[in-house]
Amino acid sequence: MQWQQPIPKHYLQMPKKELMERIAQHKAALGRRLVILGHHYQQDDVVAFADFVGDSFQLSRQAAQLTETEFVIFCGVHFMAESADVLTSPHQKVILPDLGAGCSMADMAQPEDIYDAWEVINDACREVEGFELIPITYVNSSAAVKSFVGENGGAVCTSSNCEKILRWALGDQKPGEAPRRKIIFFPDQHLGRNTAYRMGFDLKTMATWDYRASRGGLTDQQIRGANFILWKGHCSVHQLFRPEHVDDIRRRVPDIQVIVHPECRWEVVQKADQVGSTEFIGRTIREAPAGSKWAVGTEVHMVNRLAKAHPDKQVVILSDCQCLCTTMYRIDPPHLLHVLDQLVEGRVINQISVNDYDRYWSRVSLQRMLDITSGGPVAPPPEPIPVRQRASNALSTDASAHRLAVVAG
Ligand code: SF4
Repeated sequence: MQWQQPIPKHYLQMPKKELMERIAQHKAALGRRLVILGHHYQQDDVVAFADFVGDSFQLSRQAAQLTETEFVIFCGVHFMAESADVLTSPHQKVILPDLGAGCSMADMAQPEDIYDAWEVINDACREVEGFELIPITYVNSSAAVKSFVGENGGAVCTSSNCEKILRWALGDQKPGEAPRRKIIFFPDQHLGRNTAYRMGFDLKTMATWDYRASRGGLTDQQIRGANFILWKGHCSVHQLFRPEHVDDIRRRVPDIQVIVHPECRWEVVQKADQVGSTEFIGRTIREAPAGSKWAVGTEVHMVNRLAKAHPDKQVVILSDCQCLCTTMYRIDPPHLLHVLDQLVEGRVINQISVNDYDRYWSRVSLQRMLDITSGGPVAPPPEPIPVRQRASNALSTDASAHRLAVVAG
């Protein structure tokens, strides 16, 4: 998470009507120079101004297609704005209305911890015949992590294409065989576990890497015996859903169907009727017959919006816990107006900009994902391949301070 200066008080005290009118005026004044992207989990008063609403990857791709657009205001969290910056052209500026809008899951995978894990696992498996370690990262990760993955032969995945990407990474490695090709999966243990299990791998073939413990809290034997090494990260929103919530709603509402996001823990997914990405959840409910009943295990703003959009169906959140993404919630009309006020005056604030080295390798890992998902050949990294040169200052543990100079090599 980055430091956000407090915005002037008058933004926070402004009546809602005035806030909304001024945002609309600025948006109209900037016209085609500006696009506002809104993630599904944003509050309604922000989504009201979004030109496109979707999940993180859809939104970044959308931004990349709008080559005429000068400014992209990303109403989401930090890693999403980074992906948009990586996928857009250099003349396009990506703005995050509140720099404090991070993602607790993405923050659980810091590059320095990943370098350590990489070294330990490679060391432990050096003698294993045919051993290969493939890094895969969920799109919910920083550009520095995507870059590491790209540089080391891996790919990004989303919650919709995770299974395809894992199959590609495993190659001819089948469930039940002694592990040669291994996957290290960042940063969401639940998406990794749920997907690998659906592919036929036993839970015993998955080891969880605790980044806070020495050597991940694993013995060399446990590392060698695993097909999947799952980074011990989680989404603080989806982690709140528990198996007893499924039992409880089924008891209270007969015939209700339970649909959950794969960031939910394995025990919840096992009890659900359907599991899938935010897009899958939205589509399933949209296409469901009138009168059907749904308990949804994902962020509350999205569930409430679905309920409002489909009054002919019963749509409720799976649990009444505070299943709200608090960092996304930092993006609100006052912060949106604050960046727009500056923009109409010709000043770009809160720009998210990924360094050239991480931009290059993040693009490689994202492109691999697109190639694999489309079933085409996986393109080699484009020439020239940059050479990493560390800045003269000491290594920082802050991913955002991971500044690297780039020399075409
Ligand atoms: S919902 Fe979870 S994964 Fe998504 S941005 Fe919030 S904390 Fe991160």
